Amino acid sequence: MKNPLRQKAISIRNTLDCTVNSHSVVEQILNWDIFTKSCNIMLYYPIKNEISLLDILQVSDKNFYFPKINEFDEICISKCTNEFKRGKYKIPEPLSEINEDCKKIDLIFIPALMADQWGYRLGYGKGYYDRFLKKLSKHTVKAIPIYSELFKEDLPIDAHDEKADYIVLPNKIVDTRVLIA
Ligand code: ADP
Ligand code: MG
Repeated sequence: MKNPLRQKAISIRNTLDCTVNSHSVVEQILNWDIFTKSCNIMLYYPIKNEISLLDILQVSDKNFYFPKINEFDEICISKCTNEFKRGKYKIPEPLSEINEDCKKIDLIFIPALMADQWGYRLGYGKGYYDRFLKKLSKHTVKAIPIYSELFKEDLPIDAHDEKADYIVLPNKIVDTRVLIA
């Protein structure tokens, strides 16, 4: 059920303007009180037309972290460095070898192929973020940046799927926690 949807999301995403949409998503984030209050922020390195948040690195009063796949094939976090090196799946990762404590993350941005109004996400099908999000502190705010065209009412979910608190669209930020079924 998820795989055909992944193919569909990838083909839709390839038709969308990454630069324009990323710029709008970044504007939403820069004006977001939760972002301004957060000190330790986890980003991701965008691949394949994913929304890019890299312009956020210009904000000087924050610590930024990126995911890195470790020897146990899990996401761990590394502080942002000026240089990146391609890791597993050729995704750029910070050069730093120091494995930071993920409990200190105040705000995490999670990449997704699609997201829904409840905060659920469709990833590439490896479950890396489902496993990683379970390790975060309760205080960590979880947000998924996504194109409006890839934001759905409902996605198929499994018992292990973790949800986000907010969905960041180019024109608004949706608080998924206020929705009642
Ligand atoms: P994605 O979240 O990338 O879209 P899925 O949700 O389909 O991918 O999960 C992919 C695989 O990861 C599943 O086969 C699932 O068994 C595994 N997985 C996800 N979360 C966990 C977990 N907490 N413990 C063990 N395996 C997990
Ligand atoms: Mg999942």
